[in-house]
Amino acid sequence: MKPLFGGIEGGGTKFVCAVGTGPDDILAEARFPTTTPGETMQRAITFFQQQENEHGRLAALGVGCFGPLDPDPGSPKFGQILPTPKPGWTGAEIVAPLRAAFKLPIGFDTDVNGAALSEARWGAAQNCDPVLYITIGTGIGGGALVNGKLLHGLIHPEMGHVLIPHDVIADPFPGACPFHGDCFEGLAAGPAIEKRWGQKAETLPVEHAAWDLEAHYIALALTNFIYTLSPQKIVIGGGVAQQAHMLPLIQKKVQANLNHYVQSVSITQNIGDYIVLPGLGNHAGVLGGVALAEQALLS
Ligand code: ADP
Ligand code: ZN
Repeated sequence: MKPLFGGIEGGGTKFVCAVGTGPDDILAEARFPTTTPGETMQRAITFFQQQENEHGRLAALGVGCFGPLDPDPGSPKFGQILPTPKPGWTGAEIVAPLRAAFKLPIGFDTDVNGAALSEARWGAAQNCDPVLYITIGTGIGGGALVNGKLLHGLIHPEMGHVLIPHDVIADPFPGACPFHGDCFEGLAAGPAIEKRWGQKAETLPVEHAAWDLEAHYIALALTNFIYTLSPQKIVIGGGVAQQAHMLPLIQKKVQANLNHYVQSVSITQNIGDYIVLPGLGNHAGVLGGVALAEQALLS
């Protein structure tokens, strides 16, 4: 029998929990709003306890969570949310309450590292390494699998805050990042689109000028990530990426930015198969939790 895993996608607005062995075998799923850390973690614990009663013992748990967070098992702050503007969540314990309730291996990483892992394991990035996963939603974040491992470092990458060229004549919007103004997230996350154009991104028609500008910013950032990480696959998730008509625009702009400098057929000939949407659809996140659980069991 395959081991049964519990996965959590810990988002700033909602938590998704699932129990299963992989994408084709999800036995149960629960979604609830992110409220206080104590209440939110208790709801997750109650869900997994109910699932254990129904389906038997879990082999491991995994959490892909919004950050910043401490993913280093050797650090005293491992399993916590680090200082965050999100009220009540600075120092929130994510792993500790799970460990107290379940004596199990627990994987813990950023939501985007989790999604990079699940897309490499089961989704659009199988047999690729490095794998880059970018989410463009309320915020922008990036996770990467490099040489078989999720990329950490001082803390973990913060790819959403890279600085990209901003032509203030063409786009006078000053940017919406509370820390940096017109960083990538400040220019291109969902709330920036909404502030710039005065309406929610999902209500802007396909022919609106917003989408060419959005694709322009995404392509600039991806170009930098291609130069620095040399990923074999780039997966773009998040609500804004659901505007799938942007994908060919992004691909064309990335090719133009690179200007034949990176001589890989992935870029020169197969770009349509290089910058892609998640193979696991909107389950990439919670399956990230499941993949982190599997990794925790194996490590
Ligand atoms: P979160 O980042 O909070 O986990 P999402 O990835 O859904 O959740 O991102 C929410 C942001 O994405 C909001 O700013 C919203 O306006 C935008 N968004 C959601 N759905 C769409 C869509 N279909 N098209 C364009 N923008 C969208
Ligand atoms: Zn920023």
